[in-house]
Amino acid sequence: MTPTKLMYMEDFNLLKSPATVVDVVQENGRTIVILDQTIFYPQGGGQPYDKGVIIGPLGRFLVAEVRFVDGIVKHIGSFEMGEFKTGDSVQCEIDVPRRYLNSRLHAGGHLVDMAIHALGLNWKPGKAYHFPDGPYVEYSGSMQGWDKEELKKKIQEEAQKLIEKGAEVKLLFMSKQEMANLCHSVPENLPEGKPARVVMYGDFGIPCGGTHVNNIRDIGGIIVRNIKVSKGSQDGEEIIKVGYDVPRD
Ligand SMILES: [Zn+2]
Repeated sequence: MTPTKLMYMEDFNLLKSPATVVDVVQENGRTIVILDQTIFYPQGGGQPYDKGVIIGPLGRFLVAEVRFVDGIVKHIGSFEMGEFKTGDSVQCEIDVPRRYLNSRLHAGGHLVDMAIHALGLNWKPGKAYHFPDGPYVEYSGSMQGWDKEELKKKIQEEAQKLIEKGAEVKLLFMSKQEMANLCHSVPENLPEGKPARVVMYGDFGIPCGGTHVNNIRDIGGIIVRNIKVSKGSQDGEEIIKVGYDVPRD
């Protein structure tokens, strides 16, 4: 099957867009719609999937979950009415408040990265969890010379300064080799089947396939909730988990 064109990769501001139905399949008792192209974000990179609706000439499909499997985006859900046939022209509409919160939470994680870098901490980014129920970012590094409470305050101050200053967010496509020139950290394993993309938060580059805000200012604020430190697998290495949040409506 031809890979699904990932429209959100080139423009994460597309909230409505047409597509063509490639197939409708049943898998483990669930209905899956496959399109030629999609604005729906499939779960990945610490960011939850989009929800929404796909409207066709003969049916309306509620998207409850979105997954990326071997180049194909699976829109998983149920028909509210009617059905789709292969070749149908449909309109995709994503749940905007859900996407907007997920983008702000995701951007908030990058903002913590930027604040940590601004504080001169040479930590290596690890796991990221940008879900609404307790977002955090993890690093491998050392807390030596830092008091947890003091650092929490400093990260929040730096992040807040960056929000107030604001900076445009831009997308760049390049090879993994080129990424090293623009980014402080490039993961060893970039996801397969997706374009290699760098997101520029001002002049701070991050290899990332998620959805973002248009300007750092749009994050709207940041709270550093807590810092938890545990022992890493290497000698003297610490795993530093920074819990954060963004203001909710
Ligand atoms: Zn990202």
